[in-house]
Amino acid sequence: MESEIEEMLDTLRRGGIRDERVLEAMTTVPRPLFVPARARDEAYADRALAIDCGQTISQPLIVAAVVQALEIRPGDRVLDIGTGSGYQAAVLAASGAHVFGIERVAELAETARLRLREAGFEVPVHVGDGSRGLPDEAPFDAIAVAAAAPWLPPALPRQLREGGRLVIPLHRDGEEMDQLTRLRLVGGRWVTDTLGPCRFVPLIGDDAYPQ
Ligand code: SAH
Repeated sequence: MESEIEEMLDTLRRGGIRDERVLEAMTTVPRPLFVPARARDEAYADRALAIDCGQTISQPLIVAAVVQALEIRPGDRVLDIGTGSGYQAAVLAASGAHVFGIERVAELAETARLRLREAGFEVPVHVGDGSRGLPDEAPFDAIAVAAAAPWLPPALPRQLREGGRLVIPLHRDGEEMDQLTRLRLVGGRWVTDTLGPCRFVPLIGDDAYPQ
């Protein structure tokens, strides 16, 4: 197991993960706990893996890149949209964030809750449509969207604080890959940068893809 974690860390470093706190969080969170039993042997491989309900747990490099881009500081309030297996929420919590999860599939939310608790993280996982954000807990210092959206749902930037960061995979019509995009609210202005191409499952909701 230890050598598998070392290999994963090598892959992350080669993939541009420099933030030691993120690397530490990736080491701390037991990824095998968040993957289905049949996939435990390959839990640390740099691949997305199938979880239940036709969804996926993102590959380690993508999770680390998202968390690094969110520039988490201890105590930050972070919204994790598309909590799925709970793995990314766990990495965010291990980075020192106060995490709120939202997942549209109730069954996945329930499993994620149990696993997060088992791993020692206090993360409430709401069942609902994350394309509307989570207004009751806003504002957030950072928002991570783990499913590809056709556009930026306007509710999300509105729920960010000044200085806040938001990472979302955006899918343009006719293009094969999604673009992992980061927005930062700096001095009342939005600064956008592209982190690179990636592949996510669709964000399904009122302000995203239809059911
Ligand atoms: N972060 C997850 C990745 C899960 S894949 C992990 O680490 O395992 C993306 C998840 O987004 C799926 O579980 C899917 O059900 C969920 N999802 C899709 N549309 C959503 C929406 N509008 N609101 C909340 N969750 C959504």
